[in-house]
Amino acid sequence: MSRYRDFHRESIAHPEDFWRREAARIHWETPFDAVLDRSNPPFARWFCGGRTNLCFNAVDRHLASRAAQNALVYVSTETGIERRYTYADLHAEVNRMAAVMQSLGVTRGARVLIYLPMIPEAVFAMLACARLGAIHSVVFGGFAAPSLAARIDDAKPVLIVSADAGARGGKVIDYAPLVDEAMARAQHAPPHVLLIDRQLAPTRLKANYIVDYEPLREQHYEAQVPCVWLESNEPSYILYTSGTTGKPKGVLRDVGGYAVALAASMEYIFEGRAGDTMFTASDIGWVVGHSYIIYAPLLAGMTTVMYEGTPIRPDGGIWWRLVEQFGINLMFTAPTAIRVLKKQDPALLRSADLSSLRTLFLAGEPLDEPTAAWISQALGKPVVDNYWQTETGWPMLAIQRGVEALPQKLGSPGVPVYGYDLKLRSEHTGELCAAGEKGVITLGYPLPPGCMQTVWGDDARFVKTYWESVPGHEVYSTFDWGVQDAEGYVTILGRTDDVINVAGHRLGTREIEEAISSHAAVAEVAVVGVNDAVKGQAALAFVVLRDAASAADPQAAQTLEAAIAATVDRQLGAIARPARVHFVALLPKTRSGKLLRRAIAALAEGRDPGDLPTIEDPSALQQVRDAVAGAS
Ligand code: AMP
Repeated sequence: MSRYRDFHRESIAHPEDFWRREAARIHWETPFDAVLDRSNPPFARWFCGGRTNLCFNAVDRHLASRAAQNALVYVSTETGIERRYTYADLHAEVNRMAAVMQSLGVTRGARVLIYLPMIPEAVFAMLACARLGAIHSVVFGGFAAPSLAARIDDAKPVLIVSADAGARGGKVIDYAPLVDEAMARAQHAPPHVLLIDRQLAPTRLKANYIVDYEPLREQHYEAQVPCVWLESNEPSYILYTSGTTGKPKGVLRDVGGYAVALAASMEYIFEGRAGDTMFTASDIGWVVGHSYIIYAPLLAGMTTVMYEGTPIRPDGGIWWRLVEQFGINLMFTAPTAIRVLKKQDPALLRSADLSSLRTLFLAGEPLDEPTAAWISQALGKPVVDNYWQTETGWPMLAIQRGVEALPQKLGSPGVPVYGYDLKLRSEHTGELCAAGEKGVITLGYPLPPGCMQTVWGDDARFVKTYWESVPGHEVYSTFDWGVQDAEGYVTILGRTDDVINVAGHRLGTREIEEAISSHAAVAEVAVVGVNDAVKGQAALAFVVLRDAASAADPQAAQTLEAAIAATVDRQLGAIARPARVHFVALLPKTRSGKLLRRAIAALAEGRDPGDLPTIEDPSALQQVRDAVAGAS
């Protein structure tokens, strides 16, 4: 373990020396004056004064040696479309998109909201923003109109890029009504929506703010748009994520630190090399998509595979056939996908030639031991669990095989990654935990390059939310529980806050509660996450009705449950829909009126809720038990 230990120790003891060396991985148009500025904690600025550009590093820089190599391979099992873009093609497409954006008023520092399904134009749009020094904010295509409108109002974009439709599991999702409603709701709606018309949707967006991409692309076909050199700490993107409150946080990331962190992670964690092919099965709307579908593989001169579809259509062998067809070397997905694949015929896995595949990476949610054991055995390749979050942008815990291939311990994502001063601390005192003692996973100052710089437009919220929640210590809280063994391996034990994780998607229970409360029949609601065999967790809602009689008979209850679920779909999107809505007369609360969510979750999972000395009315516990028992 000594190589890993020395490497990690060096990165924490001498961050300037460590990251100065790593910074050589990217092109700096102007060298930086200082590696790290710690004058204003908890804010940290990396590579101060250095000027660079993410798009240049991801695309232009490779033209000299890899113009003819595939940069992007696109496969959609929804539409049957397959496309390959060399680095030269990608360069041309990004220039076209950048020129079109410029013609629509996109400039350095301006925000562009990208609400797109998994199509190559999403990559072009993100890289075009990077080229222009504009700030992209990608909103997951599954979010509903009010969520989209809230993000428009927070980011105040000058342009939205959208498409006529997405597709999933053979169903077309018409974007027109969503975009129309969001534009109508938003206070800060931009003048234009640039439309990528896939010719999929039954209805077309017709509003006067729609601008069709295709004719503009033709018009700017030969465009050459210079990269705008940005100071390393200028923003590259905003990515919204759920937290404890109903209002999503805009995680803001820089340019230089992000590029360096991703490039280094490619060697030390992913063991990816220029010319390799990487398939990250995620969505561009999530941080894994930003970092490991787009930026990291391209920064490293690799070929990235972008996939629209599910892991089981046309059948459960599709991903393994892609590995064979494209000679995929590295694969990255979430444990949920593996749990889904585990139910498929194992012959599908064995029938493909997987000899090109070196490693499978899994992140986004806890990897349970049976799933880890099954997939490692079935593949016969290393499976690397890695733990991180939208805020960090790249892994915090992993076996860093490019540093030292330490043994795996099932159930643990491994040991702290270089650059992260990761420590477990007591929830009550903030003191360090002993080995084997449960605590909150925290990070010391400064966060390494690539991590969030602040909450967009709200420095105070960044400080208060992340740096002031551990008593007595100015450390960053991940809001995850964990336990570390004597050798340094950490196991994740769930969230400390009201965030749940459904199929690798992070959802704020408060957001779901707010959506449910907007239904006229609802007086009170509590949403909790419970164990789910496939999705890791599922959301359950417990609702107190204004008029209990409205769900008096099973038929009425069923209708109301469907209506409440539909309200969540409309407000937030189907990904946030609770698995069940249970009706109760009373919710477990403290005498001061705080919902006892942990107790509700325990009861819903059939566990003992423990001692609850502050509970207002203990009969509320039986209500939850009965509701869950009645439903099963
Ligand atoms: P997100 O910001 O949406 O990527 O969600 C991040 C959260 O997902 C973390 O704070 C953890 O709660 C959870 N998470 C991510 N990766 C892992 C992992 N490898 N093991 C356990 N939990 C994880």
